[in-house]
Amino acid sequence: MIALLLVLCGVLGGAAGSTEAETAEWCGAWRVAGEANNLGAWSTVPEECAEFVRGYMMGRGYVVDLEMVASEAGEFARSVEICGDGKDAWVFDIDETLLSNLPYYAAHGFGLEVFDHEKFNDWVEKGVAPAIEPSLKLYEDVLNLGFKVILLTGRSERHRSATIENLINAGFKDWDQLILRNSDDQGKRATLYKSEKRSEMEKDGYRILGNSGDQWSDLLGFSVAVRSFKLPNPMYYIP
Ligand SMILES: [Mg+2]
Repeated sequence: MIALLLVLCGVLGGAAGSTEAETAEWCGAWRVAGEANNLGAWSTVPEECAEFVRGYMMGRGYVVDLEMVASEAGEFARSVEICGDGKDAWVFDIDETLLSNLPYYAAHGFGLEVFDHEKFNDWVEKGVAPAIEPSLKLYEDVLNLGFKVILLTGRSERHRSATIENLINAGFKDWDQLILRNSDDQGKRATLYKSEKRSEMEKDGYRILGNSGDQWSDLLGFSVAVRSFKLPNPMYYIP
């Protein structure tokens, strides 16, 4: 019993005092728990996992995970019967879904630093975020299959021009709608804001068959898609 308690205390106490291998194991478990939405809201990457997250984001792990999500999403998209009335929709989030902010996060500790809205907004205005390549391929595939693509982002309306320029320069085109937060949406939780926007799409007659996002708040709530695809992101959590 005492041994069990000690083990539990060790687990609950994180990786403090652990060997390098144990820390890596613990951080791997933390990452999976985050992706599975078992952690609840978290604000920053645990300090002991800073190197682990950096290694994952900069190494093959992140790319392979992105490729698998895009591949599964593509398989589903091909399996769906398109009605051909222009109302079959695929919703994409933008940040860490279509566009990668890795250059920004690399300069800000890969999620170790508390999120700084002002600095991030400055980065967004530069409009230089590269495409997430597996997502770009999925994007082109669903367009070719006849889906309407709707972009639904937590970015605010004032970033519309920079966002359009960035998307086009990164290779994205022919979207049906680009929805950003307007003044009425400010302060709303992402889950509610995105659910309301999907509900409006449904009222406009769209059938939301697929939804791709790196946050659970892109995918959960109401008016959810027939299939939702969660891209990896161990750097931040948006409720
Ligand atoms: Mg995102």
